[in-house]
Amino acid sequence: LVPTAHTAGLSSVIRKKLMGYVGFANLPNQVHRKSVRKGFQFTAMVVGESGLGKSTLINTLFNTTLYPPKEPISPAADRPKTVAIESIGADIEENGVRLHLTVVDTPGFGDFVNNDDSWKPIVENIESRFDSYLEQENRVNRTKIVDNRVHACLYFIQPTGHSLKQLDIEFMRRLHTKVNLIPIIAKSDTLTDEEVTEFKERILSDIAHHNIHIFQAPTYDNEDEETIAEAEEIAGKIPFAVVGSDRLVNTPDGRQVRGRAYPWGVVEVDNEEHCDFVKLRQMLVRTYMEELREYTNDVLYENWRTEKLLSMGVAQDSSVFKEINPAARLQEERVLHDTKLQKMEAEMKMVFQQKVQEKEAKLKQSEEELYARHKEMKDALEKQRADLEDKKRKIESGRPLTPEKSSTTRKKGFLRT
Ligand code: GDP
Repeated sequence: LVPTAHTAGLSSVIRKKLMGYVGFANLPNQVHRKSVRKGFQFTAMVVGESGLGKSTLINTLFNTTLYPPKEPISPAADRPKTVAIESIGADIEENGVRLHLTVVDTPGFGDFVNNDDSWKPIVENIESRFDSYLEQENRVNRTKIVDNRVHACLYFIQPTGHSLKQLDIEFMRRLHTKVNLIPIIAKSDTLTDEEVTEFKERILSDIAHHNIHIFQAPTYDNEDEETIAEAEEIAGKIPFAVVGSDRLVNTPDGRQVRGRAYPWGVVEVDNEEHCDFVKLRQMLVRTYMEELREYTNDVLYENWRTEKLLSMGVAQDSSVFKEINPAARLQEERVLHDTKLQKMEAEMKMVFQQKVQEKEAKLKQSEEELYARHKEMKDALEKQRADLEDKKRKIESGRPLTPEKSSTTRKKGFLRT
């Protein structure tokens, strides 16, 4: 039985019918048992101005009092000057499945007179969590990696009914490549149904206009119709208009529900007719928690990691990244430095030699010139000496010096007589 055939790098799959039960159909159960034993880790971040109902919604989502009731907002003088990052962890269990939930709160976001840089500490916090994961991955022993990365960020939009504020856009633009963004219209019970619909449209068009990527429930080709319909239903509710309440109230028809009681009636948190809370919980917890974790690991973290390693000068070879090794990096830098020094030395030597050659050529030229002048002068002197010798000899032998000179003498003699 040859299940696959490889031909020149191409592989084709041959479907085979089994003659009997082998057992690998049980693989999903193995994974299930293992995951249940190990438990799950999930980190959610909540961002939004104070008083938008972040703590209440987290308590409502996980049906626990993770956040104790808050004190009313203190006067401006008491407020912190920067965005703080606080996290609360809790182990919760449902039907024997353990979930270690961490909620990262960002008190102070959007609460200042100038909120221009409110996003900065949050981006830094998300990146430092990536950093910590990368550092753990590079340890010699990496069997016990603690995953503190933020898997989802619930962004609370004020229920103004207008459109997104500059602060909202700036935050989402800065964060959408680093975290799964889930926009939420806070306290949606303060808006009418039509207002919610219109507000959602404007928010979505703002998000599209600024090319912001928000988390979308993924659908796969081989999925059944029911799952696809569920994903579409969830996607149709984004941004989720939610109502939070961790209190039980009595409805006029005698039921006890989680909700908010008003003189004119009760807003039920878990009623899909009243708000999108159920769909939000479905996306965040029931159906897509694993997708959120996977997207964070496979796409967001991976992109950040690639960028980080490239910026650190780690090159990618054809198949795998070179692991970051400080000693190897140091050695690489030293070799580069040495090569640079050698190159500089060779260049200096070349320039020096060139200069020496030029000087030598110049010296040789002036030496030749001097020699030529010396020879010229010597020749002239030699000629002068020869002439004088000649004259001397002629005078001594009593012969007239030159024909011209003797005619002159004759003329002179003629004149005297
Ligand atoms: P946080 O500062 O964003 O964490 O806000 P809290 O969760 O402390 O809520 C601030 C106030 O808003 C509290 O009085 C809550 O009872 C109230 N609140 C929370 N959720 C909702 C909601 O969905 N609708 C309305 N109308 N009020 C809410």
